[in-house]
Amino acid sequence: MRSTMTLRSAARTSAGMFVSNWQNNMTQTSNSLRTAQLTAAPVSLVARMLLGVCAMVLIAAAPAVAAGDFNAINAPPPRGIVSRLRSEHPRLLASRADFEKLRLGVKEDATLRDWRGKLAARAERILSEAPSKYEIPDGLRLLGVSRRVLDRVYTLALMYWLDGDQRYPSRAWKELEAAAAFPDWNPRHFLDTAEMTHAFAIGYDWLYDCWTSEQREILRKAMVEKGLGPALRCYQGKANYGRWMNVRHNWNQVCNGGIGMGALALGDVEPELAGELLKNAIESIQLPMREFAPDGAWAEGPGYWNYATQYNVVFLAGLETALGTDYGLSDIRGFAEAGMFPIYITGPLDRTFNYADGGEGPVRAPQMHWLGRRFKRPAYAVYQRNLATPHPLDLLWYDRALAGESIAQLPLDRRFRGAEIATFRSGWANREALFVGFKGGDNKANHSHLDLGTFVLDAGGTRWAVDLGADNYNLPAYFGAQRWTYYRLRAEGHNTVVINPGTGPDQEPSAAAPLIQYESKSGAAFAIADLTAAYAKHAQSVRRGVAVVGRKHVIVQDEINGAGATNIWWFMHTPAEIEIGKDGRTALLKSGERRLSARLLAAPAEAKFQVLPARPLPASPNPGGQGSNEKLRKLALRLEGATGGVISVAFGLEPPEGNDSVKVPSFLGLESWGKTDWKFQTASLFSLSGSGSLAASSAVKTLRSLDHK
Ligand SMILES: [Zn+2]
Repeated sequence: MRSTMTLRSAARTSAGMFVSNWQNNMTQTSNSLRTAQLTAAPVSLVARMLLGVCAMVLIAAAPAVAAGDFNAINAPPPRGIVSRLRSEHPRLLASRADFEKLRLGVKEDATLRDWRGKLAARAERILSEAPSKYEIPDGLRLLGVSRRVLDRVYTLALMYWLDGDQRYPSRAWKELEAAAAFPDWNPRHFLDTAEMTHAFAIGYDWLYDCWTSEQREILRKAMVEKGLGPALRCYQGKANYGRWMNVRHNWNQVCNGGIGMGALALGDVEPELAGELLKNAIESIQLPMREFAPDGAWAEGPGYWNYATQYNVVFLAGLETALGTDYGLSDIRGFAEAGMFPIYITGPLDRTFNYADGGEGPVRAPQMHWLGRRFKRPAYAVYQRNLATPHPLDLLWYDRALAGESIAQLPLDRRFRGAEIATFRSGWANREALFVGFKGGDNKANHSHLDLGTFVLDAGGTRWAVDLGADNYNLPAYFGAQRWTYYRLRAEGHNTVVINPGTGPDQEPSAAAPLIQYESKSGAAFAIADLTAAYAKHAQSVRRGVAVVGRKHVIVQDEINGAGATNIWWFMHTPAEIEIGKDGRTALLKSGERRLSARLLAAPAEAKFQVLPARPLPASPNPGGQGSNEKLRKLALRLEGATGGVISVAFGLEPPEGNDSVKVPSFLGLESWGKTDWKFQTASLFSLSGSGSLAASSAVKTLRSLDHK
């Protein structure tokens, strides 16, 4: 019931996660599946997982906006849709003419030639691999198999169009024949069914001329019995395969997209079934498509942005090539901006701000070419040209004219409303650049963590503040009642504050945190999140601001106005070694030759930096089976018995050894951000010159001003 994509950092993240790329997918999935076997799955466990997952999907399905507040696109009647169908094959994503154009492009363009070579090598490997078998290693998901079939079929079919080598369709047939004989395509976890249907749609359509009528009949029958039929029963409410058609997250796009492709492939031989499915898919997919508005972000995190938009775009592109129209779906507000998300959520080291369940590997997204062309956004195409490994659709959708441009003219900062995220950087295409990702957001979002207020920080070629990402999807009730017992999903496993920690969730699971202020100027850029709802039981108001000053200094500032005596923790996860200054008010993070200082610009006198392992607090739950976070540690602060406080931490790269004094920003209360420019003070490596008292008095003043509000 839940997507199991794979992370690039699978070693750390174990089973069943997100893939940032359709190829990586396969190796990583097998990796995950292996881990999953270890944890799998007495029947009762699977049942609990299913219940938990259902619960999560239901929560996530709760409308984020009231129905009727957008102009829904009414799909025409089923017969009207099918009447537009082009009769010839191929008609999915590409026509014969498109493939011919690509063959020419490969001769003329060095990028395409390079990609073709890599794809040919992969196709050659596939020729010697055994066809896929029906395997559900974690007791729930066939998904790894569906994706392997999909990847093989795409690769072999595209290579056939490029080279005309008959070995490719022969091998593709073995793959499809094997999967056609599976007992089912695991509809209880409908993603598996949808992805397999997608694979068959491409295999049927792109290689149509290679098949005998008997072979076509085998493919048609399998698609109808194992994919399209079950999907129709889902739309009709007659099957218990999840309510994916009613949700606003990745499940909707993947299921509608995969099934939609099957319907377009068979529209002429199964007109009634295909028409009914397409009408439903066109209506249903609008739900998640509205979630990109207004700025293109995705609340499920970068990994699921990729999964959702892959299938979203495949469906739109399929409608376009097969019917000549997408019925206006791609014009839905915010969708044109979707390509901005991976660009801005990726830091200078090609690591993403991987909030929610996801890895920090780059988002490799061939759909960026399509989005770039559709919305005339060269930056989208440039982005993916630099990251393609490639996927067959990279070749098909690549546009030389677009991708020849540069990304460097884009503004350095961006705010994404809806998901409530802001990212800041000091430059593009420079591995040494400064990068900060910061989020408010909504703890109710599908795949969310209790991570309101968290941030990541890159500088000087190092990621200093990291997000731990997802844990093993097969942990008990990972998507259910036990979700907030897992460290990587709790606030204490993030770079945010925790107030009065205990055994329960350490942020309010229903809380949302808007970015209440955002500004981007060349000298300073910042965002302020109102985190009050996350800590409603413990404090009157909690705000966090993150500022980038002079494109060099990063300030993370919390202003907490407590209700009574509170126990406040401040955490930042880092792989760096940490040295704490004598007075506890500074810390030096070391990674190789690089050093990043953390200085308290303001904090109550008892606040002292300390180093903690990346593990649950003593009172926190700590169930077995969680991934190890041993390679990381936490820079931490603790305020005990405080009624609130200001905690302002300034980060900056230190000059190389030599102990030169540096200029760091002076403390500025959040209410002055955007109104007053930051002043600078002199600091040596482990002290701020005379600033201790200044910081403290400012802090007290700020607190008073908060009290009066
Ligand atoms: Zn997280």
